[in-house]
Amino acid sequence: MNHPVEDCIIIGAGLSGLAAAKSLDAAGLNVLVLDKGRRPGGRMASREVEGAMFDYGAQFLSARDQDFRRLINGFLGTARVIPWFERATEIYYCSPLGMNAIPEFLAASLRVECGVTVSVVRRDGKVWRVIAQDGTVYTSEAVIVTAPLPQSLGLVEIPSDIRSALNAIEYHRCIAILAVLDGPSAIPEPGFLRLSEEPLQTLADNRLKGLDSESVGVTILASPVFSLAHWDTPEAEVARLLIAAADPYLGSGVSHWRYHRWRYSQPIQTYPERFYGLDQTPPLALAGDAFGGPRVEGAFLSGHAAANWLLTK
Ligand SMILES: Cc1cc2nc3c(=O)[nH]c(=O)nc-3n(C[C@H](O)[C@H](O)[C@H](O)COP(=O)(O)OP(=O)(O)OC[C@H]3O[C@@H](n4cnc5c(N)ncnc54)[C@H](O)[C@@H]3O)c2cc1C
Repeated sequence: MNHPVEDCIIIGAGLSGLAAAKSLDAAGLNVLVLDKGRRPGGRMASREVEGAMFDYGAQFLSARDQDFRRLINGFLGTARVIPWFERATEIYYCSPLGMNAIPEFLAASLRVECGVTVSVVRRDGKVWRVIAQDGTVYTSEAVIVTAPLPQSLGLVEIPSDIRSALNAIEYHRCIAILAVLDGPSAIPEPGFLRLSEEPLQTLADNRLKGLDSESVGVTILASPVFSLAHWDTPEAEVARLLIAAADPYLGSGVSHWRYHRWRYSQPIQTYPERFYGLDQTPPLALAGDAFGGPRVEGAFLSGHAAANWLLTK
C-alpha cells in the first residue's frame, strides 16, 4: 500500500507525542501518530481487573506551566480531570475515568495508528522513511520521536557527540502490582501514600481517588531499588513480597492481582533543553519526558516545544 507523504510523523502517542500532534494539527499540518501499544497513552495507563479500575502508570499530574494549566483547566469542566489532593500549595489532578482517559481524549481528534512498532527511521533525500516492523513504509517531511530515550536512540541516526550525551540519560525501573481487595483499604483519604521505606514507593486506592469502580483496587508501586533488584524475579514472588510489605495499609484481603513492569518509568537525569532538534532537511526532533522533565507535564511541554520548533522550519 502506498502511503501519502505526511507533513509530520510522530512516533509515540504518549502525552509528549500527542501534545506535539495537537500543536501541528492546529497549525494545519497533516500529522500521523504511530504507536506500538494497543491504545494511546504510553505511561498514562489504566485498566480494569475483576471490577476494579487501576491507574498503573502515572498516578496524577501537576500543572505549573501556564500552557499546561490551560489544557488541564479546559478539561476540568468535562469531568475528565478532577483535583485529587493538594500538598504544599500544589494541586495534584487525576481523572475519574482513569489517567488514560486524558491521552485518549487528545488522540480522538488526531490521526493515531496503534499497534504499529517502528523499527527504523531513515533519511531518503528530502523525506524521512519510517519503517514499521511489519515492513510498512511511511513517508514524511518531518519526524518527532517521543519514545523513552533509549528506544528512540535505537530508531534513528544522530550525530555522535549528541548521542553520547543522550545515552547518558538513565531511567528508573518500576514494578507495579494491581491488587484487588475484598473490602475497603486502610489507606486514609485522599487515598495516596508516598512511602520512604523499602520496598514500596507509593500506594494508591483507586476508588478513594474517584475512579468509577465496583471493587477496591490498590496500585502498589515498588521502589526503584526493589524494581531493579527483582526485575527477573518470578511475578508471583514479587507480588508476594510487595503485598506483604503493603499489608499494614491494605486493611482487607487481596482477592486478585496483576503484575506490570515498566523498563523506562521515569528518567533519572534530564536533558537541559526541552527537545533535541536535528536541524537539517528533512528535520527531526527527539522529545519526551527525558527533555521536559520526568512527569506528565514535562512530557507535554517537551512535545509542545518540539512542534513549535518544527513550525519554524
Ligand atoms: C509507574 C509510573 C508512575 C508515574 N507516576 C507519575 C505521576 O504520578 N505523575 C507524573 O506527572 N508522572 C508520573 N510518571 C511519569 C509519566 O507517566 C511520564 O513522564 C509521561 O507519561 C511520559 O510521557 P511520554 O510521552 O514522554 O512517554 P510515553 O508515555 O512513554 O510515550 C511514549 C510512547 O512511545 C511508544 N513507542 C515506544 N517505542 C515505539 C516504537 N518503536 N514504535 C512505535 N511506538 C513506540 C510507546 O508505546 C509509548 O506509548 C509515572 C510513570 C510511571 C511508569
